[in-house]
Amino acid sequence: MRIIPISLPTPFYIGPVNVYLIAEDPITLIDTGPKTKEANDALHEGLRKARVRISDIRRIVLTHAHEDHCGLARSVRDQAKDAEVLVHAWETGHRIGRLEYEEHRTLLVRAGVPPEEIETMRRMYDGVRQYADSFEHDEYGELRDEEELEFETGTLRIVHTPGHTPGSCSFVREADRTVVAGDCVLKRITPNPILSPDPIDPTKRFASLAEYLVSLARLRTFAPTLVHGGHGEPVHDFEELFNRYFRAIRDRQAEVIRLLPKSGASAWEIARQMFPVTDDVHRFLSVSEAVAHLDLAHSEGKIEVEFGDGKEVYRPKNGVRG
Ligand SMILES: [Zn+2]
Ligand SMILES: [Zn+2]
Repeated sequence: MRIIPISLPTPFYIGPVNVYLIAEDPITLIDTGPKTKEANDALHEGLRKARVRISDIRRIVLTHAHEDHCGLARSVRDQAKDAEVLVHAWETGHRIGRLEYEEHRTLLVRAGVPPEEIETMRRMYDGVRQYADSFEHDEYGELRDEEELEFETGTLRIVHTPGHTPGSCSFVREADRTVVAGDCVLKRITPNPILSPDPIDPTKRFASLAEYLVSLARLRTFAPTLVHGGHGEPVHDFEELFNRYFRAIRDRQAEVIRLLPKSGASAWEIARQMFPVTDDVHRFLSVSEAVAHLDLAHSEGKIEVEFGDGKEVYRPKNGVRG
């Protein structure tokens, strides 16, 4: 079974996205790229080089429901004459091509983001959503943890690896310990745990960073020899990356705890201190990052959190330093 990477351009800051073709029955595409003419053309070109017609695709598997990964899913499905589309059920906060906006809004308010900033983030998201077609609930099937995607000459094990988003999945070929990991493993950047509603109770936030650490440890048990990420080059030394991510997360946590004044601060205030010069989309990512680290520090008993006046205020615990 060959896993063929195809790089597609995106209009996003992160740059090109990698999608993966498995050119054996049932012909399967893992992720699709954003809904742009450029990505669609590049996808057709990549398929042509692999001698696959788009109409031959039988299965579209999504690592997660971000626009750069899922945007063309409907278009590919239609061009492929009803290929099956599969995604994990926990991609609830970000159903394919559609943000569950009210739930996100509630989380941003609790994180202390001022109303005018929330409005800016919403307008920005309206700009992003044009890069994905949306799906209704009955239009896709579910990826389930530990099940296998079968192919003519082998299988890919579905491994639910929440963190970057609640429903992020990786796919493991155990025969040679190759992993397709979407945005769970990226060679050059530590993936952002995106602020998301909890899929079980959307009034709560998903413990993205804690879940992410578990996912990384779970992937490690497969002792991967090659990891194909959603962006950038493949990772050959997962152990090195694993240790580097853990160090980066510990360093960031120490910084967040250091920034907390005795009188307390919201996640938004911490984000503004961590990233004072960010604009538009990066303000959302920076508040996501601050919340993720504060939540993890709180769950580890290193800081305190109090809910009052509509938002959460974090405080250092006496004597505890990250
Ligand atoms: Zn993503
Ligand atoms: Zn991505």
